[in-house]
Amino acid sequence: MKELYSQVNRRTYYISMLTIIVLMVWGLILSTSELKGITIGYGIHFTCVAIISVCLLIYPKYETYVFRKIIIMMGFVYFYTLFFLYPDTWTTYILICLIPSLAILFFDMKLFYFSMVLNGILILMTFVYITLIDQGQVYTYLHYDLVGNLINIIASQVLLFLIFHLSFSRMKKQQLYYEQVQQAERLKMIANLTAAVAHEIRNPVTVVRGFLQLYQQDPAFDVSDKNKFKLMIDELNTVEHITSQFLTLSKPNGDLKPERVNVKDVLHSVTSLLSSYAMLSDNHIDIDVEEDCTILINTIEFKQLLMNLIKNAVEASEAGMSVSVTARRSRHYIEIRIIDQGSGMSEDEVKSLGTPFYSLKSNGTGLGLMICFNIVKKYGGEIHYHSLKGHGTTVTVRFLAVNDN
Ligand code: ADP
Ligand code: MG
Repeated sequence: MKELYSQVNRRTYYISMLTIIVLMVWGLILSTSELKGITIGYGIHFTCVAIISVCLLIYPKYETYVFRKIIIMMGFVYFYTLFFLYPDTWTTYILICLIPSLAILFFDMKLFYFSMVLNGILILMTFVYITLIDQGQVYTYLHYDLVGNLINIIASQVLLFLIFHLSFSRMKKQQLYYEQVQQAERLKMIANLTAAVAHEIRNPVTVVRGFLQLYQQDPAFDVSDKNKFKLMIDELNTVEHITSQFLTLSKPNGDLKPERVNVKDVLHSVTSLLSSYAMLSDNHIDIDVEEDCTILINTIEFKQLLMNLIKNAVEASEAGMSVSVTARRSRHYIEIRIIDQGSGMSEDEVKSLGTPFYSLKSNGTGLGLMICFNIVKKYGGEIHYHSLKGHGTTVTVRFLAVNDN
């Protein structure tokens, strides 16, 4: 009923529950004349009304599964007590049919199936009792058309099942949509904030780097100082690289135009840039590209995409291992594969790829793949990961091919 709460306010809940309690007490008062005094049956009826009333009133404070189950079980006891205690009031038969709807109110799938099964068994036992023991003496209205009544009761249960199933799946969908909207809003806010911070960092970094470059050319400094300046400039370049990655989060380079790009040329230029990086950790990059591979994409973004993917493959590989990059035409598509025999990933890790700030590296930003996924999506391509923990990863990127002419 938590969901019910978020829509209907507390006051409406209490008014409805008080109405139900008043109706139950009214029924209790009337039953004294029907039962001709205070009997054991009346005692059971009274106890049920008392327990259910208390449960309904305190439920908002204890919205637990166990408490919901207690309410449903009390509902069973109460409605079946009414059915057997007041056989002349034939409407109690309708109440029995409606017992599973209590679980609909709670929107609890487990409880709903539980009450459906339990109610099915109890109804069957009731009909057996009416056929074999009662034989139409008290429950004449049911015995008169036993099969017809049974069909009606089954139909009512199927209807309840449908109502529950449809509203439950619709609610789940809405909940998922709501969560996605919330997540998107959160990401947008983070992206804007980080972009603002990144922008503020870039300006002082540029100034400091400019001075360092001047000092580097200044003959007043000796070689060892100049080497230190070079190191500082390299570190500042890394800062700038990271901040520009942050900036692309809020500004997805909308003004970059797509052009005809020869995959082979770009792959060669990217791998020659990255091969010195790979050499540092004693890794090697092998490329094998077919000639006529042309796609429509922005060169800068395509380079950024390949750099991120190949860099990840190198970083996942142990010393001495090679990363293989292939590109070939497959029907109307150009398929680029980056294969490594590195650390690999579990299924859950693969599912998390592309999530902003998801990184298992101590110095990772966790933004690379998010940017890659955005680039692939922007140009209508596809990206797939096939990975086995401890055995390596194959990334397949697919773009529509363009004819060379
Ligand atoms: P970063 O490289 O900054 O960590 P990425 O978005 O590029 O961020 O990658 C996110 C994470 O995905 C990495 O930290 C790594 O754990 C995992 N990953 C990506 N590519 C591979 C790969 N080829 N092999 C193993 N793990 C990978
Ligand atoms: Mg990366």
